[in-house]
Amino acid sequence: MPETTEIIRISDPAAEASEIERAGQILREGGLVAFPTETVYGLGGNALLPESSRRIYAAKGRPSDNPLIVHIAETEELFSLAAEVPQLALTLAGAFWPGPMTLILKKSRAVPGQTTGGLDTVAVRLPSHPVARALIKAAGVPIAAPSANSSGRPSPTTAEHVVEDLFGKIDMIIDGGESDIGLESTIIDLTGEKPELLRPGFISEQAVTEVIGSVEKDPSILAVPAEGTAPRAPGMKYRHYAPAADMYLVSGEKEKVREKIRLLVSEAGSRGEKPAVICASQDEGCFEGAAVFSVGSAEDEREIAHRLFSVLRETDKAGVDIIFAEMLGGEQLDLAIKNRMLKAAGYKVIEV
Ligand code: AMP
Ligand code: MG
Repeated sequence: MPETTEIIRISDPAAEASEIERAGQILREGGLVAFPTETVYGLGGNALLPESSRRIYAAKGRPSDNPLIVHIAETEELFSLAAEVPQLALTLAGAFWPGPMTLILKKSRAVPGQTTGGLDTVAVRLPSHPVARALIKAAGVPIAAPSANSSGRPSPTTAEHVVEDLFGKIDMIIDGGESDIGLESTIIDLTGEKPELLRPGFISEQAVTEVIGSVEKDPSILAVPAEGTAPRAPGMKYRHYAPAADMYLVSGEKEKVREKIRLLVSEAGSRGEKPAVICASQDEGCFEGAAVFSVGSAEDEREIAHRLFSVLRETDKAGVDIIFAEMLGGEQLDLAIKNRMLKAAGYKVIEV
């Protein structure tokens, strides 16, 4: 474990080339560097070194059967990481890279099993964030990078979130400001007969089908996996994105949702518990007796996606006992927002 964690601020990678070089060297030589991406902050290590992946799992407290996404700086790198690159992969890469899209392919022998959680497939993404791309280029190797949070906690969208979870456990944190999107990448598995959406993200199912036709959808995206089955993205089976307090989603017609939450808040109060409410900004004034956290306007799905994880962390800091959240959504991002809220609440939904 490193003695301490160095924190550096980089907004323009070109202006700070020597710092990027230094961070790249730490990665190449097996160290761990957290860095900004357009989705959330990533915890990077050299994807080709089993020891780096082992260190990533240790720092996050992540189960080692949960594979890591490998980040690259140029599409060509796919050919050394994947045993075969189907045309569909190149089509999706052409449409969505650089950007928040992860592709699952059969892995080549260059990728150690430690990086892929023992699977014979590999997840690959080419991020668009300029700091991330410059860092991967400087490292000169593909970078395995899961979200830079402690396992189970909400994904980090600022360098401060990374400091909260990983300070003292990794070599360096690059602060590049707030993540633009705030939700993790869309994951598409291309190793089966048909392409399958394993995790919804900023790139919507509709955007994907416009490019490659229909995709299958892992049923665990919106429902508790059936007994005896596991989600296809191993990471989706773990309790995830969860705040410290127990969280319940309330879903249904707007006015009924507000009424139900008011009732739940007052019941919690009479049990002597400290309740919190997560809601759209339009409803901020509706819940007396609770700590109220707005995730943004109900009309602005990008803002909701951008703020959700951050708000979950704020509820932790406020030390509340129980959280009631309006089930939020949107259009393009509906599946991604609902999936993250369901997982944060452990799929506990009160329908009204
Ligand atoms: P994170 O990087 O923290 O956003 O988590 C990575 C996600 O990608 C987890 O849900 C993993 O289970 C999933 N993933 C990574 N590699 C694979 C793979 N080879 N097959 C299926 N899912 C994967
Ligand atoms: Mg994660």
